[in-house]
Order: sequence, then C-alpha cells, then structure tokens
Amino acid sequence: MAKTDLKKGVHGITAFIVDKGTKGFTIGKKEDKLGCRGSPTSQLYFDDCFVPDERVLGKKLGEGFTGAMKTLDAGRISIGAMALGLGEAAYAKSVEYSRSRQAFGGPISRLQAIQWKIADMRTRLDAARLLIQKAATLKDQGEPFGNEAAVAKLYASEVGMWATSQAIQIHGGNGYITDYEVERYFRDVKLCEIGEGTSEVQRMVIAKHLGLR
Ligand SMILES: Cc1cc2nc3c(=O)[nH]c(=O)nc-3n(C[C@H](O)[C@H](O)[C@H](O)COP(=O)(O)OP(=O)(O)OC[C@H]3O[C@@H](n4cnc5c(N)ncnc54)[C@H](O)[C@@H]3O)c2cc1C
Repeated sequence: MAKTDLKKGVHGITAFIVDKGTKGFTIGKKEDKLGCRGSPTSQLYFDDCFVPDERVLGKKLGEGFTGAMKTLDAGRISIGAMALGLGEAAYAKSVEYSRSRQAFGGPISRLQAIQWKIADMRTRLDAARLLIQKAATLKDQGEPFGNEAAVAKLYASEVGMWATSQAIQIHGGNGYITDYEVERYFRDVKLCEIGEGTSEVQRMVIAKHLGLR
C-alpha cells in the first residue's frame, strides 16, 4: 500500500502487487514474536522501487483503503474463528487434564472451582461461536455484516484470551511449561486482539454503527 495522492487522504492510497526480486524491494529480518511463530513476519522495504501501472491492485489508483476496509470486515470473521479454535483447544485440554490430574485424593475435575471455570469456558465459547456464525451467515446472504463481524471478532478474541488463561490455571504449574500446549494457545491467541483492528478499534466500529459520534 502506498500514498499515491497526498492531497486525497484515505482516497489517495493505492495497493500494488510487488514481486520478490523487484529492484529496490527488500525484506527485513524475521521478527522474534510472542506467538504465531509458525507464520513468519518481516518488514518490507521499498527504496526507489518502481512499480508499473499493471501491478496496481484494483481498477484504478486510490482504491487501496476502501479495498482494505472491505477485506478487514470479512477477515474479522476469520480472526474470530481463529480465536474460537484456540479457545476450544484450551477447553478440550482443560477437560482432559482435569479428569487425569490427581491431587488431594482424586481428580481435580471433582472440585467446584475447576468445574465452574470449565462451565464458564463452555458458555462463553458457545456464545462466541453463535456471534461468528451470525456474521458469517449475513455475509453469505449478501447482507451488510460489518458491525456483526466487529462484534464477533471482539468477543471471540477476548473470550479466546480469557479461556486460554483459564486453561493455564487449570493445568497449574504444568500449564506454564511448553510440554503442555496450553501456553502456546495463550501466546498465539493474543494476536487476535491486535490483528485486523485492535479490540479498541472494534469498539470504535461498533459505536459508529450505533450512531455514536
Ligand atoms: C505478527 C503480526 C501480524 C499481524 N497481521 C495482521 C494482519 O494480517 N492484518 C491486520 O489487519 N493486522 C495485522 N496485524 C496488526 C497490525 O499490524 C497492527 O499492529 C495493528 O493494526 C495495531 O496498529 P499499531 O501496531 O500501529 O498500534 P497503534 O495504532 O500504535 O495502537 C497502540 C494502542 O493504542 C490503541 N489505539 C490506537 N488508536 C486508538 C484510538 N483512536 N482509540 C482508542 N485506542 C486507540 C490501540 O488499540 C492499541 O491498543 C498484525 C500484527 C502482528 C504483530
């Protein structure tokens, strides 16, 4: 994405496809990240990099921002689903572990404190799933879905963060070491509160849809 007309604000941004190997285009170091470490992230550098007209993404110059916003609306459903998946994995591991871990004379699953954590996980994950399905259904039907996508992404990513934290707690000290996968879910899901618009930005989008200015 680049500003192609400095006077037009968001309508002066254009998206381009730049092939690897194009003169002036270089890729920075692989970043060392908290989570999502299976997906490499690097800065891209463009120094006097000439990109011809035929590499413009879209019909004409200036469509970059609107294109990105449309992509973000749909992408938010996917990020919500990603957070839900990590939350579901944390839930499944918690149920399994609570049944197998013996402490003070029996499995920890018999303890109400553990049962309530797992019951709350199930409840909030089900709610997140329904919100994601609502947004996805509207999109499939060709109806407006921007608000519902923001609601689903916001709720699912915060539930995912909360559920993975609960999972570590249920695993006790084992939850904190890498042999038990729940610490990875916790690290990975944090990105869902940041990418495709932070949780703060989702709240702004929702407030805008409510007509609050
Ligand atoms: C590994 C990785 C992969 C990513 N992949 C994607 C991706 O594929 N797609 C994508 O869209 N994003 C992605 N992101 C997120 C994106 O790169 C930005 O990090 C994100 O949009 C936030 O912008 P920023 O980092 O500049 O934070 P800033 O804008 O500097 O924000 C810092 C803090 O201030 C808050 N803030 C900023 N402005 C406001 C405001 N007006 N009101 C209230 N609070 C505000 C933010 O919510 C945040 O808490 C990725 C991030 C990482 C780390």
